[in-house]
Amino acid sequence: MSKLFFRYGAMNSGKSTALLQVAHNYEERGQSVVVVKPALDTKGHNKIVSRLGVSRSADILLASGEDLRHKVDELRGRRSSSESALACVLIDEAQFLEPEQVDAALEIAVFDNLPVVAFGIRTDFRRRAFPGSLRLLEVAHALEEMKTICRCGAKAIFNARLGDGGMAHEGHQIMIDAPGVTYEALCAHCYLKFEQRH
Ligand SMILES: [Zn+2]
Repeated sequence: MSKLFFRYGAMNSGKSTALLQVAHNYEERGQSVVVVKPALDTKGHNKIVSRLGVSRSADILLASGEDLRHKVDELRGRRSSSESALACVLIDEAQFLEPEQVDAALEIAVFDNLPVVAFGIRTDFRRRAFPGSLRLLEVAHALEEMKTICRCGAKAIFNARLGDGGMAHEGHQIMIDAPGVTYEALCAHCYLKFEQRH
């Protein structure tokens, strides 16, 4: 039996970079990986983009309602004769998975004996869990926090949404590439102070 891992962190904690590094490590050993990205994440379209400038295409762009286990199985079938053995499933922006897709990821690990490593953000700009992250926190075998630093030097754990000169308190949970909207990873102290001021 393999395991489902959830590596979570605030924005800009290097999750995509870490994913690309894991993929590289497997491939260097002559093994292949499947890279999955929820179709919801429009940033870079089907590309996994690291802020360090490295990128690669996702093997599976997973749309809403699609069965992740079935998709991985299909790909495994297509690759079986031609390529090196499939060793791992890597999921970028895993906060955007649907809970059922997280359950499918657990089945891939448990029944298909393929380790699954999901990288994602734990909470949204109002400090509420994304549905995919919540399910991952519930069912993953292993949780690993990826650290990044707040402007004050402490560990950042929250993601503030900035726009119109202040901090957003309302709005859709998902807002990617909207004009004038940016995010900043903050520690709890800076987040709460910032919230009081705006
Ligand atoms: Zn801080």
